[in-house]
Amino acid sequence: MNATLNRNIPDRDAFLDRAYALYETFAKSLDVACKPGCSHCCTRDVTVTTLEAYRVFKALKENGNLALIRKVLADDQRRFQPVITTNQLAELCASDGETPPEDPPVSQNPCPLLDHGLCSIYAHRPFGCRCFVSASNCGENQFADVDPFVLTVNTIFMQFIEHMDTPGLFGNFSDVLGFLDSEPHRKTYESGCISKLPQGMVFNRPIPVLMIPPEDRDRIRPLLAGLQNLRSICSL
Ligand code: SF4
Ligand code: SF4
Repeated sequence: MNATLNRNIPDRDAFLDRAYALYETFAKSLDVACKPGCSHCCTRDVTVTTLEAYRVFKALKENGNLALIRKVLADDQRRFQPVITTNQLAELCASDGETPPEDPPVSQNPCPLLDHGLCSIYAHRPFGCRCFVSASNCGENQFADVDPFVLTVNTIFMQFIEHMDTPGLFGNFSDVLGFLDSEPHRKTYESGCISKLPQGMVFNRPIPVLMIPPEDRDRIRPLLAGLQNLRSICSL
Protein backbone atom coordinates (compact mmCIF):
# COMPACT_ATOMS: atom_id res chain seq x y z
CA MET A 1 0.00 0.00 0.00
CA ASN A 2 1.37 3.41 -0.99
CA ALA A 3 2.33 5.27 2.17
CA THR A 4 2.12 8.74 0.53
CA LEU A 5 -0.66 10.42 2.47
CA ASN A 6 -3.02 13.11 1.33
CA ARG A 7 -3.80 15.58 4.14
CA ASN A 8 -6.58 17.28 2.22
CA ILE A 9 -9.71 16.77 4.34
CA PRO A 10 -12.27 17.32 1.52
CA ASP A 11 -10.59 14.54 -0.52
CA ARG A 12 -10.58 12.24 2.48
CA ASP A 13 -14.20 13.15 3.24
CA ALA A 14 -15.17 12.34 -0.37
CA PHE A 15 -13.53 8.94 0.10
CA LEU A 16 -15.50 8.40 3.31
CA ASP A 17 -18.75 9.32 1.60
CA ARG A 18 -18.19 6.79 -1.17
CA ALA A 19 -16.90 4.12 1.22
CA TYR A 20 -20.11 4.48 3.26
CA ALA A 21 -22.16 4.10 0.05
CA LEU A 22 -20.13 1.05 -1.00
CA TYR A 23 -20.68 -0.54 2.40
CA GLU A 24 -24.40 0.24 2.31
CA THR A 25 -24.74 -1.61 -1.00
CA PHE A 26 -22.91 -4.58 0.56
CA ALA A 27 -25.07 -4.43 3.73
CA LYS A 28 -28.25 -4.47 1.64
CA SER A 29 -27.21 -7.89 0.30
CA LEU A 30 -27.17 -9.33 3.85
CA ASP A 31 -30.01 -11.04 5.62
CA VAL A 32 -30.10 -9.15 8.93
CA ALA A 33 -32.54 -8.61 11.78
CA CYS A 34 -31.65 -4.91 12.08
CA LYS A 35 -34.54 -2.46 11.84
CA PRO A 36 -35.36 1.11 12.91
CA GLY A 37 -35.90 1.34 16.67
CA CYS A 38 -33.69 -1.69 17.43
CA SER A 39 -30.87 -0.09 19.40
CA HIS A 40 -29.28 -2.66 21.73
CA CYS A 41 -26.05 -2.11 19.77
CA CYS A 42 -26.09 1.67 20.39
CA THR A 43 -23.71 1.97 23.32
CA ARG A 44 -21.03 4.36 24.57
CA ASP A 45 -18.39 2.00 23.17
CA VAL A 46 -18.41 3.08 19.52
CA THR A 47 -14.92 3.92 18.24
CA VAL A 48 -14.16 6.34 15.40
CA THR A 49 -11.41 8.10 13.49
CA THR A 50 -11.13 11.88 13.55
CA LEU A 51 -12.33 11.94 9.93
CA GLU A 52 -15.65 10.29 10.82
CA ALA A 53 -16.18 12.48 13.89
CA TYR A 54 -15.19 15.61 11.93
CA ARG A 55 -18.01 14.88 9.49
CA VAL A 56 -20.49 14.55 12.38
CA PHE A 57 -19.18 17.76 13.96
CA LYS A 58 -19.48 19.70 10.69
CA ALA A 59 -23.01 18.43 10.03
CA LEU A 60 -24.18 19.36 13.54
CA LYS A 61 -22.58 22.79 13.23
CA GLU A 62 -24.19 23.45 9.84
CA ASN A 63 -27.60 22.39 11.20
CA GLY A 64 -27.21 24.57 14.30
CA ASN A 65 -27.32 21.40 16.37
CA LEU A 66 -24.13 21.64 18.41
CA ALA A 67 -26.23 21.15 21.56
CA LEU A 68 -26.05 17.45 20.74
CA ILE A 69 -22.29 17.56 21.25
CA ARG A 70 -22.84 19.17 24.66
CA LYS A 71 -25.16 16.25 25.41
CA VAL A 72 -22.45 13.73 24.47
CA LEU A 73 -19.78 15.54 26.48
CA ALA A 74 -22.02 15.92 29.53
CA ASP A 75 -22.55 12.16 29.63
CA ASP A 76 -19.50 10.98 31.55
CA GLN A 77 -20.39 7.30 31.93
CA ARG A 78 -17.84 4.54 31.56
CA ARG A 79 -16.80 3.93 27.96
CA PHE A 80 -14.40 1.80 25.98
CA GLN A 81 -11.11 3.51 25.11
CA PRO A 82 -8.98 1.65 22.56
CA VAL A 83 -5.23 1.36 23.07
CA ILE A 84 -4.41 0.29 19.52
CA THR A 85 -5.91 0.94 16.08
CA THR A 86 -7.03 -1.65 13.54
CA ASN A 87 -3.90 -1.10 11.44
CA GLN A 88 -1.67 -1.43 14.49
CA LEU A 89 -3.40 -4.73 15.21
CA ALA A 90 -2.75 -5.80 11.59
CA GLU A 91 0.91 -4.90 12.00
CA LEU A 92 1.19 -6.89 15.23
CA CYS A 93 -0.58 -9.91 13.73
CA ALA A 94 1.69 -9.85 10.67
CA SER A 95 4.82 -9.76 12.83
CA ASP A 96 3.58 -12.22 15.50
CA GLY A 97 3.78 -9.34 17.97
CA GLU A 98 1.95 -9.27 21.26
CA THR A 99 -1.22 -7.16 21.42
CA PRO A 100 -1.35 -4.82 24.43
CA PRO A 101 -3.96 -5.59 27.09
CA GLU A 102 -7.20 -3.69 26.57
CA ASP A 103 -10.37 -3.39 28.65
CA PRO A 104 -13.14 -5.13 26.69
CA PRO A 105 -16.06 -2.96 25.47
CA VAL A 106 -18.50 -4.00 28.18
CA SER A 107 -20.09 -0.79 29.44
CA GLN A 108 -23.45 -1.33 27.68
CA ASN A 109 -24.28 2.25 28.63
CA PRO A 110 -26.58 3.66 25.93
CA CYS A 111 -25.18 6.10 23.37
CA PRO A 112 -26.13 9.67 24.37
CA LEU A 113 -27.16 10.32 20.75
CA LEU A 114 -30.07 7.90 21.00
CA ASP A 115 -33.40 9.66 20.96
CA HIS A 116 -36.40 7.43 21.75
CA GLY A 117 -34.58 4.42 20.31
CA LEU A 118 -33.50 6.24 17.11
CA CYS A 119 -30.14 7.72 16.16
CA SER A 120 -30.26 11.53 16.16
CA ILE A 121 -27.33 11.72 13.71
CA TYR A 122 -28.30 8.74 11.55
CA ALA A 123 -27.22 10.19 8.16
CA HIS A 124 -23.79 11.05 9.55
CA ARG A 125 -23.21 8.11 11.91
CA PRO A 126 -19.68 6.69 11.90
CA PHE A 127 -18.65 3.44 10.27
CA GLY A 128 -18.62 1.57 13.61
CA CYS A 129 -22.39 2.14 13.75
CA ARG A 130 -22.99 1.31 10.07
CA CYS A 131 -21.21 -2.04 10.23
CA PHE A 132 -22.91 -3.32 13.37
CA VAL A 133 -25.35 -5.85 11.91
CA SER A 134 -26.75 -9.12 13.18
CA ALA A 135 -28.60 -12.03 11.59
CA SER A 136 -30.81 -12.30 14.68
CA ASN A 137 -32.07 -9.85 17.26
CA CYS A 138 -29.24 -9.01 19.68
CA GLY A 139 -31.70 -8.07 22.42
CA GLU A 140 -33.25 -11.54 22.45
CA ASN A 141 -29.98 -13.46 22.15
CA GLN A 142 -27.73 -11.13 24.17
CA PHE A 143 -25.13 -11.28 21.39
CA ALA A 144 -24.72 -10.21 17.77
CA ASP A 145 -24.90 -13.03 15.23
CA VAL A 146 -22.38 -11.98 12.59
CA ASP A 147 -21.10 -14.03 9.66
CA PRO A 148 -17.25 -14.27 9.73
CA PHE A 149 -17.12 -12.88 6.17
CA VAL A 150 -18.97 -9.74 7.34
CA LEU A 151 -16.38 -9.33 10.09
CA THR A 152 -13.62 -9.52 7.47
CA VAL A 153 -15.36 -6.92 5.31
CA ASN A 154 -15.84 -4.65 8.34
CA THR A 155 -12.17 -4.95 9.26
CA ILE A 156 -11.02 -4.08 5.74
CA PHE A 157 -13.25 -0.99 5.62
CA MET A 158 -11.91 0.08 9.02
CA GLN A 159 -8.34 -0.40 7.79
CA PHE A 160 -8.98 1.79 4.74
CA ILE A 161 -10.78 4.50 6.70
CA GLU A 162 -7.95 4.62 9.24
CA HIS A 163 -5.38 4.72 6.45
CA MET A 164 -7.20 7.63 4.82
CA ASP A 165 -7.20 9.50 8.12
CA THR A 166 -3.46 9.34 8.70
CA PRO A 167 -2.35 11.58 10.34
CA GLY A 168 -5.37 11.65 12.60
CA LEU A 169 -6.70 10.01 15.74
CA PHE A 170 -8.69 6.95 16.75
CA GLY A 171 -10.67 6.72 19.95
CA ASN A 172 -14.05 6.50 21.61
CA PHE A 173 -16.66 8.51 19.69
CA SER A 174 -17.25 10.81 22.69
CA ASP A 175 -13.54 11.48 23.19
CA VAL A 176 -12.88 12.26 19.52
CA LEU A 177 -15.95 14.52 19.31
CA GLY A 178 -14.76 16.27 22.48
CA PHE A 179 -11.32 16.78 20.89
CA LEU A 180 -12.84 18.32 17.75
CA ASP A 181 -15.16 20.52 19.80
CA SER A 182 -12.11 22.64 20.65
CA GLU A 183 -11.26 25.09 17.86
CA PRO A 184 -7.47 24.95 18.43
CA HIS A 185 -7.63 21.14 18.31
CA ARG A 186 -9.76 21.27 15.17
CA LYS A 187 -7.17 23.49 13.52
CA THR A 188 -4.33 21.12 14.38
CA TYR A 189 -6.35 18.29 12.83
CA GLU A 190 -7.19 20.34 9.73
CA SER A 191 -3.53 21.22 9.24
CA GLY A 192 -2.46 17.59 9.72
CA CYS A 193 -0.22 18.54 12.62
CA ILE A 194 -1.55 16.91 15.78
CA SER A 195 1.65 16.68 17.80
CA LYS A 196 0.38 15.77 21.27
CA LEU A 197 -1.64 12.60 21.75
CA PRO A 198 -4.83 13.36 23.70
CA GLN A 199 -5.63 11.09 26.66
CA GLY A 200 -7.52 7.91 25.72
CA MET A 201 -6.78 8.16 21.97
CA VAL A 202 -4.21 6.71 19.57
CA PHE A 203 -2.68 7.90 16.32
CA ASN A 204 -3.99 6.35 13.08
CA ARG A 205 -1.59 4.34 10.96
CA PRO A 206 -1.29 3.49 7.28
CA ILE A 207 -2.26 -0.05 6.25
CA PRO A 208 0.69 -2.42 6.79
CA VAL A 209 -1.14 -5.50 5.48
CA LEU A 210 -4.82 -6.27 4.92
CA MET A 211 -6.34 -8.70 7.41
CA ILE A 212 -8.05 -11.11 5.02
CA PRO A 213 -8.21 -14.80 5.94
CA PRO A 214 -7.38 -17.13 3.00
CA GLU A 215 -10.97 -18.42 2.82
CA ASP A 216 -12.31 -14.88 2.19
CA ARG A 217 -9.79 -13.77 -0.45
CA ASP A 218 -11.81 -14.57 -3.57
CA ARG A 219 -15.12 -13.40 -2.18
CA ILE A 220 -13.81 -10.05 -0.98
CA ARG A 221 -12.04 -9.20 -4.25
CA PRO A 222 -14.85 -7.01 -5.76
CA LEU A 223 -15.19 -4.95 -2.57
CA LEU A 224 -11.45 -4.55 -2.34
CA ALA A 225 -11.32 -3.39 -5.95
CA GLY A 226 -14.13 -0.94 -5.12
CA LEU A 227 -12.16 0.51 -2.20
CA GLN A 228 -8.95 0.77 -4.24
CA ASN A 229 -10.92 2.50 -7.00
CA LEU A 230 -12.29 5.05 -4.51
CA ARG A 231 -8.73 5.87 -3.47
CA SER A 232 -7.81 6.80 -7.02
CA ILE A 233 -11.07 8.71 -7.67
CA CYS A 234 -10.42 10.75 -4.52
CA SER A 235 -6.70 11.27 -5.33
CA LEU A 236 -5.66 9.42 -2.18
S1 SF4 B 1 -27.05 -5.09 15.40
FE1 SF4 B 1 -28.49 -6.07 16.78
S2 SF4 B 1 -29.23 -4.44 18.13
FE2 SF4 B 1 -28.25 -3.45 16.39
S3 SF4 B 1 -29.95 -3.04 14.98
FE3 SF4 B 1 -29.05 -5.04 14.40
S4 SF4 B 1 -30.27 -6.57 15.49
FE4 SF4 B 1 -30.67 -4.58 16.46
S1 SF4 C 1 -24.25 7.39 16.92
FE1 SF4 C 1 -26.32 6.73 16.41
S2 SF4 C 1 -26.10 4.70 15.45
FE2 SF4 C 1 -24.18 5.19 16.54
S3 SF4 C 1 -24.39 4.27 18.57
FE3 SF4 C 1 -25.08 6.40 18.74
S4 SF4 C 1 -27.30 6.34 18.39
FE4 SF4 C 1 -26.45 4.38 17.65
